[in-house]
Amino acid sequence: EILVSPLRLEPESAFVLPPKLFGAGRKNSAGLDLEVATQRAALQTAFDNLTVPSVPEFDAKQAASAYATSATSYKIWSKAPVAERAALLRQSADALEHQMPRFCAILVKEAFKTWGDAVSEVREAVDFLRFYADEAERIMAPVALPGPTGETNELRLSARGVWVCISPWNFPLAIFMGQVAAALATGNTVLAKPAEQTPFVALEAVRLLHSVGVPEAAVQLLHGPGETVGAALVALPGIAGVVFTGSTPVARTINRALAAKDGPIVPLIAETGGINAMLVDSTALPEQVVDAVVQSAFRSAGQRCSALRLLCVHEAIADHVIEMVQGAAKELVLGNTAEWATDVGPVIDKEAFDGIQKHIQRLHSTAKPLLAQSAPARAAANLIAPQAFELKQVSDVAQEIFGPVLHIVRWSGDPQAVIEQINALGYGLTLGIQTRIDSRAHALAAAAHIGNVYINRNIIGAVVGVQPFGGEGLSGTGPKAGGPHYLYRFCAEQTLTVNTTAAGG
Ligand code: NAD
Repeated sequence: EILVSPLRLEPESAFVLPPKLFGAGRKNSAGLDLEVATQRAALQTAFDNLTVPSVPEFDAKQAASAYATSATSYKIWSKAPVAERAALLRQSADALEHQMPRFCAILVKEAFKTWGDAVSEVREAVDFLRFYADEAERIMAPVALPGPTGETNELRLSARGVWVCISPWNFPLAIFMGQVAAALATGNTVLAKPAEQTPFVALEAVRLLHSVGVPEAAVQLLHGPGETVGAALVALPGIAGVVFTGSTPVARTINRALAAKDGPIVPLIAETGGINAMLVDSTALPEQVVDAVVQSAFRSAGQRCSALRLLCVHEAIADHVIEMVQGAAKELVLGNTAEWATDVGPVIDKEAFDGIQKHIQRLHSTAKPLLAQSAPARAAANLIAPQAFELKQVSDVAQEIFGPVLHIVRWSGDPQAVIEQINALGYGLTLGIQTRIDSRAHALAAAAHIGNVYINRNIIGAVVGVQPFGGEGLSGTGPKAGGPHYLYRFCAEQTLTVNTTAAGG
């Protein structure tokens, strides 16, 4: 008997409010405690009333004047007390929380999010605003350092200047807001380039920041193609840094462009793609494994940087796990994400659809299809049914496929050897380990060159302030978003040493 029923991605699960993220006195998005029915009605009304307009593109030739405006604004914004900037970000968080139905509706209409994913994403954006507000206040207070008598030593952090923030379409609100909030909290000003596919949610986010009092010149939205607008911003002389989230090849292009510039060395924070694996040993609980696999591989139609691409399952339980994955995947509801029951929506656009389809066709001739019974792809709606293919070895998975496509490899022998093969892929974003042997799980985690390791659960999702998120190797530069070190990269550090015995000391 194949177990399927508990594994559905229930839309209702989105309405189960998460536990308080922070300790007493730190507010979070769990304050929005509405009845499920009321929430649904509010979301539906916002959706019905919404038209997503087209957003005018920015002319790349205007990049220099946008920079000049930002640099002028920087002189004032960076001088404001950190508490004032933090207060504006907290007000933005409150405003976003109150406009949750509208922002969810935008995410469903513009980015084809399911309702559950939309609610989680708005919450994440709210949490980023509050977390970076708190963090900026924490780290920007001067720190007195112990030293010899006769002098004082102090470490002071300040803003660096104008930051270029470049974001992807797959978390077009949370990642956009996270980048912008980090830069603003630390006193920098921002030229923000959202993904071409999702400019409206970014426009609304910037309007919201302006509406609470963040100066218009301190955060400007420059929507347009990456190759022209994005590249023009990266090429600007004088920028203080670039924060980029997106694909690994584009991060390389930006890195090269920055390296080729004259003048100071410009820091790049890059958070990029992954070939994320889950290692399952013979002691793992199949029900738990399958739940984690289905959530991680197929939720959000596999369009998460953290999504599961490669399941490495011990041969002793492989047949059983594969059979259960087949049963569970068949139960997923594929369709329009405006429908409440939908589990798996369309991929973002026709280009993505064609690219994933091409990969699937290749897999049909090189690997063993395991989900042949699932619904076929529907080009008109860019819908791709969950797919799984069995491959011979870990190294057969060569690149990140950004869709609902799972690769499965059987293993036997030493699990450390499997971790080495996963390390050899070069990516290092997320990893799952499923085992009932605690010491093994920790030894495998320690051997993995992976930024986020999840033991006995799904591998998607990272709660701001609780699970700092970011990868190693081809998956990014760090520091981890939503973690205690992130804001330091946006700051200049000055060590101030004063001889207190000298005249004037
Ligand atoms: P992408 O790399 O195609 O585009 C990202 C952004 O870069 C867009 O705004 C785009 O316009 C811009 N861009 C493109 N070319 C540019 C250039 N030459 N110069 C400057 N900017 C340029 O990525 P995408 O398709 O929008 O997003 C999906 C990718 O993002 C996946 O690889 C996914 O794994 C990754 N991602 C990573 C994380 C993470 O935290 N590590 C999170 C979300 C998404």
